[in-house]
Amino acid sequence: MLYWPCTEEWVLDVIKNLVSKYHTDIAQAKIGVIWKEKASGDETNKKLATMSKVSEKQKASGVDYNFVMEIASDTWNDLTPEQRVSLIDHELCHAGCEEDETTSEKKYTIIKHDLEEFRSVVERHGFWRDSVTKFAETMKNVKE
Ligand SMILES: [Zn+2]
Repeated sequence: MLYWPCTEEWVLDVIKNLVSKYHTDIAQAKIGVIWKEKASGDETNKKLATMSKVSEKQKASGVDYNFVMEIASDTWNDLTPEQRVSLIDHELCHAGCEEDETTSEKKYTIIKHDLEEFRSVVERHGFWRDSVTKFAETMKNVKE
């Protein structure tokens, strides 16, 4: 698998704009962006991108980022500009920042998805848990 740095101004500008609008908790974070040759996963559930936190070990070895966003270049080419912005926003949602209550030291974290569910379970059992209900309410309120 090949990886290479993303230097495309469009991508970096989208990140900058989304962070200043919706992700202000990570405004101080350094986010590295890299291209990945191919998306992982299967046809119905491809991983178009991932966000990971840079570990202390990686930092000690010279990685000067807090997070690394990895974007699959093969699937990126099939996305519309709006889908590309949505994908970047999605990945930025995974990047969080927590403050230690006692030391008030900032700590970067990876945030999990709001909803982890199967369509078939919702078909069979409806809105059986809070996360499903909240997601359904949000979807009802979204204008296409
Ligand atoms: Zn995700």
